[in-house]
Amino acid sequence: TADRYTQIQLQRKSLPAFTVKQELIRTIRENQVTIVIGETGSGKTTQLAQFLYEEGLGFNKGNGNKKIIGCTQPRRMAAMSVAKRVSEEMNCEIGQEVGFSIRFEDRTDPNKTSIKYMTDGILLREILADPLLSTYSCIIMDEAHERTLSTDILLGLFRQLIKKRRDLKVIVTSATMNADKFTRFFGDAPQFTIPGRTFPVDIMYSKSSNSDHVEAAVKQILTVHLQSSTDSGDILVFMTGQDDIETTCELLQEKLDLLDNPPPLDILPIYSTLPQDLQKKIFNKSDSKRKVVVATNIAETSLTVDGIKYVIDTGLIKLKVYNPKLGMDTLQVVPVSLANANQRSGRAGRTGPGITYRLYTENATEDSRMYKQPIPEIQRTNLSNIMLLLKSLGVQDINSFPFLDSPPKDLLNCSLYDLWSINALDNFGELTPLGKQMIEFPIEPTLAKLIVQSLEFKCSEEIVTIVSMLTVPNVFYRSKERKRESDMAREKFIINESDHLTLLNIYNQWETNLKKVKNNFSSINSWCTKNFLQLKSLLRAKDIKNQLLLIMKKNRMPITRSNDDTIIRKCLCSSFYQQSAKLTKVNVNGQLEFINLRHNYMKMYLHPTSSLILNSSLSTPYVIFHELVLTSKEYMNFVTTVDPL
Ligand code: ADP
Ligand code: MG
Repeated sequence: TADRYTQIQLQRKSLPAFTVKQELIRTIRENQVTIVIGETGSGKTTQLAQFLYEEGLGFNKGNGNKKIIGCTQPRRMAAMSVAKRVSEEMNCEIGQEVGFSIRFEDRTDPNKTSIKYMTDGILLREILADPLLSTYSCIIMDEAHERTLSTDILLGLFRQLIKKRRDLKVIVTSATMNADKFTRFFGDAPQFTIPGRTFPVDIMYSKSSNSDHVEAAVKQILTVHLQSSTDSGDILVFMTGQDDIETTCELLQEKLDLLDNPPPLDILPIYSTLPQDLQKKIFNKSDSKRKVVVATNIAETSLTVDGIKYVIDTGLIKLKVYNPKLGMDTLQVVPVSLANANQRSGRAGRTGPGITYRLYTENATEDSRMYKQPIPEIQRTNLSNIMLLLKSLGVQDINSFPFLDSPPKDLLNCSLYDLWSINALDNFGELTPLGKQMIEFPIEPTLAKLIVQSLEFKCSEEIVTIVSMLTVPNVFYRSKERKRESDMAREKFIINESDHLTLLNIYNQWETNLKKVKNNFSSINSWCTKNFLQLKSLLRAKDIKNQLLLIMKKNRMPITRSNDDTIIRKCLCSSFYQQSAKLTKVNVNGQLEFINLRHNYMKMYLHPTSSLILNSSLSTPYVIFHELVLTSKEYMNFVTTVDPL
């Protein structure tokens, strides 16, 4: 490991940020706000905080500094991964000098941590508790060009905060796009550009548009892999999410298996819910073997994989978009902006000249189908959560808040209306007691309301379990090869026409077993495998549940048990009446067809993973649902029948 440490130090010194360290530090010392611009991979995320630490801005009882360096990331996965990398570079354990904090997972030590990586959402919640951010000497707003909702709000808050905390340093880092906007926002703050090395990248377009981006990508990967067998340049593929990434990897492996002796290829998926040990693999280096990294947008700027020579860009991205027809956010796959497309291409030219294959036609970039710049989240998603936060920070008049880009009036009004309609705001736009209680929970407003409602229905223990289970990804392990078995395993847990109660049942059975085997890891692991359940997700649900219970105790909210399913259904109904539907018919394919009761009576269907999908009819036509997934149709995810009487 001494060797590895030396090697890491050498690698550090070769980064562009290292060559300008002194000037960079001088600029930061002389100004309260600095905008740092640099190509992806120049060392902004991993080096900047270390430079400041070496300058003594970090927590150090020895020299009397009790403040820490904070660095925000738009993505949980980036916060974790980067913190681990930096702790390795500093030769310490994660959670000691270098830590991270993401929702429901705090790996920092108040007596030791000097550099803290966190999601922008976490810092926003910290401002609620400590409006002056008095424990920080310095905040690096990293990846500000991503323009997440939390980043935008933080920037607005910082504009006021820097006047109250003259000693606080704020550094905004950005990829090359959009940087001038930040400069102007902070009254012509100085820009510091880290000189980058980039190599030319050839861009190839598809001749015609493709109907299936997974198939097109697999074909392109194989072509590149087989034709350029003389070099071992790695391939980076941009997909939209876990589903198409997994399908791409499977299909690619299938095609490779059909070939006679193909050159070896490492197929590495990367998306946020992938287990951490698998995520790390993308950084593994091999000189002889080519790798193909199949990634979400996280590889666009957040994570840099060295050695990429070929980029294959589907031109697609999955975004959260407010859908006014439905009155809620939905995940949608949309074309990327031109700025994103260029950023993606650039990934091929970091270590040498590269090639980008765009799986769309050149025409597509010219007509109006692609935006020039991405639309910031604040202009396209539901703002209820943020409005609730700003209200509790005492921002009376939202219209006077210094937004980098103002949210559209309609979106703002819709969000305020939503908060009013669930009784979180009163007729004067002030927080109601319910609204105040909701803010305590770092979860979406509907779920926060559900917990508060459960106090009245005296089933808070059960509801907190359900909320925790809804907050973790993939409790079920879906096995393509053993589909029948996994379906049967699932059926055993199903509770009468309710995904919510099914989740509760799974959790309770799992916990009972956990106690029975006295927390023995391998016993509970085999129980999970047998039942096609994901142990990691369940453990995480347990952790989240404990944290939610802690918040309740702190706020003196009673924790009560109920074993009456009807009560739990009523409680769900009282919080989710905005997300309700009515069964209208069974269509010719035997599918249950619903209409949305709140919005436009739109047609909706059950998500294939819902346990209700097995039913050919329902005991009552009314259902509530947790979320909508939009693909070719509107699918309700996590559904429970409710009897409105
Ligand atoms: P920037 O923020 O400017 O895009 P980073 O600081 O993220 O750049 O990356 C600098 C270098 O550190 C890159 O060459 C990247 O490959 C490397 N790096 C970052 N994280 C890891 C990791 N977990 N393992 C190995 N290398 C890493
Ligand atoms: Mg970075």
